[in-house]
Amino acid sequence: MDRTGSLRLRDKAAIWHPFTQMADWEKDDPLIVERGEGNYLIDTDGKRYFDGVSSLWVNLFGHRRKEIDDAVRAQLDTLAHSTFLGLSHPTAIELAEKLLAVAPPGLARVFYSDNGSTAMEIAIKMAFQYWGQREGGERKNTFLTLSEAYHGDTIGSVSAGGIDLFHKIFRPLLFSTRRLPTPHCYRCPYGLKRQSCGMHCADRMEEAVREGVEMIAAVIVEPLVQGAAGMLMMPDGYLSRMRAVTRECGVLLICDEVATGFGRTGAMFACGHEGVAPDIIAVAKGLTGGYLPLAATLTTEEIYCGFLGRHEEFRTFFHGHSYTANPLGCAAALATLSIFDKEDVFGRVSGLASVMAKSLERLAAHPGVGDIRQKGLMAGIEIVADRETKERFPSEMKIGQKIVRKARERGIILRPLGDVIVLMPPLSSTVKEIEDLVAAAGWAIREVLREPGVRAPDDSMLP
Ligand SMILES: *Cc1c(COP(=O)(O)O)cnc(C)c1O
Repeated sequence: MDRTGSLRLRDKAAIWHPFTQMADWEKDDPLIVERGEGNYLIDTDGKRYFDGVSSLWVNLFGHRRKEIDDAVRAQLDTLAHSTFLGLSHPTAIELAEKLLAVAPPGLARVFYSDNGSTAMEIAIKMAFQYWGQREGGERKNTFLTLSEAYHGDTIGSVSAGGIDLFHKIFRPLLFSTRRLPTPHCYRCPYGLKRQSCGMHCADRMEEAVREGVEMIAAVIVEPLVQGAAGMLMMPDGYLSRMRAVTRECGVLLICDEVATGFGRTGAMFACGHEGVAPDIIAVAKGLTGGYLPLAATLTTEEIYCGFLGRHEEFRTFFHGHSYTANPLGCAAALATLSIFDKEDVFGRVSGLASVMAKSLERLAAHPGVGDIRQKGLMAGIEIVADRETKERFPSEMKIGQKIVRKARERGIILRPLGDVIVLMPPLSSTVKEIEDLVAAAGWAIREVLREPGVRAPDDSMLP
C-alpha cells in the first residue's frame, strides 16, 4: 500500500474528527494535507488545492507567510511558553497594545485565551460577574441572544448559541437566554419583505432590550454576519440600532468577531462598518493569521474596574488557561497585525470582494441557487430544491457535502454549512483565484444538481 493509503488507515484507526460523522469518514478516502504554500494546500500525493475556506476561516495571508514564519521561529529561540498566571512576557504586552490600537474605540483591556469558544465563554462570564458584583446589578443575570447564533462549542458559548442541530442535545445542560429571531431577509422570521418591512426586526429587538433591561446583562451578537448559521447577513443599520438601545438602557453589548475580525469583511472589525464600539469583543480565528490557537476578549476600562478590590473581597476574575497568551501565538499575531500596517489589506479585500460579487452574480440564475450572500470575503451560496418556495433538499441527500466534494475535482477545498456553500478565501487571494474559486463552485453545483435522483430543473443558464 502507498503512503497515503497507509496514513488513511492509521487515521481511521486512531482519530475522531471534529464535526464529522465518523461512519461516513471511515468509508471515505479522506484527503491528507501535508504542506501549505501561499493560498494552496498540498496533499500527501502532491496534489495542490486552493484553500477556499481559509482552513476554516482562520487563514488571512496564506500559508508559510514569511513574516509570520520568521516571527514564530524567532520567538522559539527565546521562549515557547511560560504561564500568564502571575507572570507576563514581552510579546503578549506588545500584542495587547497593538490590539487595543486597532480595536474599536473604548476597549482598553485584553484578556487572552486560546480559541473562539473560550473567548466568548470569558465574555459571558465577565459580563455576568461584572453585574453580579455591582451595586444594584445582581438581577442582571441573563443574556439576549439571536436564534441561529453560533459562539463556539463550550457549554457557555453553546448556551448563547441557537443552532439546534449542534445544540439541541445539550439543552438540559445549558443556561437559558432570551432569544430574538435572526434578522435575516431571505427567510425573514416575520414573513416580511425588505422593501416594505421598515426594519420590523430592529423595532422588535429594541423592544426586547427595553422590556428586559432589569434582567439582561448583555446582548450577544455576531456583528453583520451570522457565519455558522449559513452566512446570514443582518440588514444595514440593525447593529447600530442595537448599540444605541443597549447604550441607552445600560445593557452591555458583546460582539463576537471571531469569524468577522481582522479584515475579513473589508474593515478591521465588522462592527466598524456601522461605527459600533462594543463593551466586549471576542477575537480568535484570524488573530494569528491562521497559524496558532490564540484568542482574546477585549473590554472597557469600566468593566475592568468593576473587578478591582482588596484581595479578600474576591472580585477577581477566576478564569485562565494553561496556555493563556502563549508566546508563539502572540508572536504570530504580532506579525499578522504588522502586515496590516505594511499593506493596504482593506483596499485589497474591497477589490477582491467586488470581483467575487461579479462572479457570483453569474450563479444567481441557476434554479438550484436560492440566495447568494456576501460581505467582504465571506460568502454563502444557499442551495434549494425549489426557488419559489425556498424549500430545502432533504438532509439525507447531503447536497452541500456532495458539492464540496465535487469541487475537490477542480482543485478547490471547501466546507459547507448544511446546503450553504461557503466561500471564504484567504485575503491574499488573487483576482484570478477568486474567479476560479467561484467558477469551480458553480461547476460543482451544476454537476451535483444534475445527477440522477436530484430534482433539478433546467440549468442551461449557468455558464
Ligand atoms: C468559529 C467561531 C467561534 C468558535 O471559535 P473556535 O476557535 O472554533 O472555538 C465562535 N464564534 C464565531 C462567530 C465563530 O465563527
